[in-house]
Amino acid sequence: MGTSKPQGSFVHCSVWGSLELHIHHDALAVVGAHAPDQPAILNRPHAAARAARFFVEKFPGKSLYAVKANPSPDLLRVLWDAGVTHYDVASIGETRLVRATLPAAVLCFMHPVKTASAIEEAYRDHGVRVFSLDSLEELEKIRLATTAANGGVLPEDLTLCVRLRVSSEGSELSLASKFGVDLTGAAELLQASRQVADALGICFHVGSQSMSPHAYVQALERVRAAIVDASVTVDIIDVGGGFPSIYPGMEPPALEDYFGLIDRTYESLPVSYSAELWCEPGRALCAEYNSIIVRVEKRRGSELFINDGAYGALFDAAHVGWRFPVKLLRANASEQPMEPFSFWGPTCDDMDHMEGPFELPADIKPGDFIEIGMLGAYGAAMKTVFNGFGANDVFEVSDEPMSSQYRGDRRDERVSNNVVSLR
Ligand SMILES: *Cc1c(COP(=O)(O)O)cnc(C)c1O
Repeated sequence: MGTSKPQGSFVHCSVWGSLELHIHHDALAVVGAHAPDQPAILNRPHAAARAARFFVEKFPGKSLYAVKANPSPDLLRVLWDAGVTHYDVASIGETRLVRATLPAAVLCFMHPVKTASAIEEAYRDHGVRVFSLDSLEELEKIRLATTAANGGVLPEDLTLCVRLRVSSEGSELSLASKFGVDLTGAAELLQASRQVADALGICFHVGSQSMSPHAYVQALERVRAAIVDASVTVDIIDVGGGFPSIYPGMEPPALEDYFGLIDRTYESLPVSYSAELWCEPGRALCAEYNSIIVRVEKRRGSELFINDGAYGALFDAAHVGWRFPVKLLRANASEQPMEPFSFWGPTCDDMDHMEGPFELPADIKPGDFIEIGMLGAYGAAMKTVFNGFGANDVFEVSDEPMSSQYRGDRRDERVSNNVVSLR
């Protein structure tokens, strides 16, 4: 393990760390060359590009990337180059970022609760024409703010997507309680939105990491009921995000199963002849993009003190007990049996704890480096600088992510051979 100074040039960027331009083969090569003193984020642009091409080619409609899952400008450019033209933004900050990074992208403002000034700026300065809503108050806000942005005249080019509340059953992270109009209020809102909108859509979110394709069928049946009830012409059906990735103990059906069921159900809906089907994948497009390298600073029995944690890229590992795949990075692989470990993050806070269990060789010790995989979604994007931690280096690597939905060798999910540390 070398301790040589990093070679090559560094691009300094406050939020995203410094990206070394040299491309390494894998995490072990990064450790060999740099023995990084702070957590290192590894980018796999080839994996994100492959995921994007998969959605662009196989989803039976349009795919909007949900930017909140990972707003890294490097990733945004990878997705754009792979054919993703539409972006789901949830704040004026994301709107400005994507517009500055991808001048020709189509931006859709899909947070159902926005400020009037955000709507006005999005319409006037960033070309946003698609907005979502789940209340009459928000409809009025959009009407007034876009009218102001359009020189006092109600625009004739608005696409309004009414967010319907659906069940989060079958997903690992619920998005059911916060947003969405109930079926009882949907008809009135759809009819009122139809008066303002050039194109009218219905959207929903089944919850993140949805482990069953049937969740989308159930949600689409609710959409059918809303359309029939409201008797309005609907131009867009947006099935939202929730498309899963592969994590230890969570191996979902193949994405083709989701796409097939969504397509069949969508085709049977009473929508306009020229209607479009949309989806808003976040996790599925970026989970494989990042892993991180951490160092063991201390061992106490089966507890490892590492240099990243709940306030860094491991929020979900700490707060929702998410298990990520792990790999000990040693030039000579350990011969010891695997044992379950838990992690402590670097801050002075008891909440900075990740239960796991994370399976690692029994002889792991301080100074060892670990790669933690599948952190591209809601991982690398969640880092804070709490307690003075949070600085990191960024490297590009060319090897495969620890698991993949997109390798094409995953015929039967039960005998998949590309999942590491799946128990
Ligand atoms: C978070 C979010 C998404 C992305 O969800 P994933 O589960 O990451 O696919 C899509 N649409 C909306 C409105 C969201 O809030």
